[in-house]
Amino acid sequence: NASRLLGKTVLVTGASAGIGAATALLFAKHLCHLKGGSNVILVARRAEAIKSVAEACASAFKESGLKQGGKFAAIQLDVSDKAQVASFWDKVPADLRNVDILVNNAGFVLGVEHVGDIKDEDIEAMFATNVLGLISVTQLLIKDFKARQSGHVINLGSIAGRETYPGGSIYTATKHAVHAFTATMMRELVNTPIRVTEIQPGMVETEFSIVRFRGDAQAAKKVYTGLEPLTAADIAEEIVWAAARPPHVNVAEVLVLPVNQA
Ligand code: NDP
Repeated sequence: NASRLLGKTVLVTGASAGIGAATALLFAKHLCHLKGGSNVILVARRAEAIKSVAEACASAFKESGLKQGGKFAAIQLDVSDKAQVASFWDKVPADLRNVDILVNNAGFVLGVEHVGDIKDEDIEAMFATNVLGLISVTQLLIKDFKARQSGHVINLGSIAGRETYPGGSIYTATKHAVHAFTATMMRELVNTPIRVTEIQPGMVETEFSIVRFRGDAQAAKKVYTGLEPLTAADIAEEIVWAAARPPHVNVAEVLVLPVNQA
């Protein structure tokens, strides 16, 4: 029941595009639908892009005709920059600092080279965002969750955290690390009200593939030949669904694939 999301504050990383943007919007729409009063903090590197997603959230909320609630803050943050993460709360309005749900979504894959041909800077960039960035943001929130004895961490893993494929050594290593980190944290928090979820999408058509092929839109599109990929909204629905379960239910892992992805 989505009414469990009423009054919650959600922090979504990587909210300027794709799954993160769809998730921010769906939290906003759910709350409108229920005549809400909740907030979403949208975080990414591209300030203009998060601002426009935050505006879309605000207008969805406004269109519902509600008089109360719905604060949507767009805050520029590179999760791979430890100094920016450390000073994050300085940028957050005081009334949005009690985050209830953290969606650790920021992540990417750069290139399809085999081991030996991968550039050091690409290896470092993927680990810095997908693993170390996710850990830094989690560390930032988890102490507060423990102090308040409430909270939900939802991490974006991947089918690439369960399987491997040629050309994906670094990306699959980062997503296997996300899986290990998430599963361990869940066990550490057992017997507390704090919940931990890993969402593991298969192929989702977003800017992800364009980033992977370094802007080559044709190569990016080719990946989806012969199958109908998931949409960002499909994954957003799983995230919001997991967040809306009753407090005694922890959705540990959700693997979501296109019907024709083996
Ligand atoms: P997109 O490329 O569409 O979006 C990625 C988001 O992450 C953008 O908002 C980007 O914003 C943000 N981001 C990247 N690096 C950073 C950073 N250092 N700090 C803050 N924000 C950052 O990809 P998806 O929506 O498809 O991917 C979202 C998540 O889902 C990722 O973790 C990805 O690994 C995972 N996933 C995706 C799949 C797919 O097929 N698309 C499959 C399985 C998992 P900005 O550039 O403005 O910083």
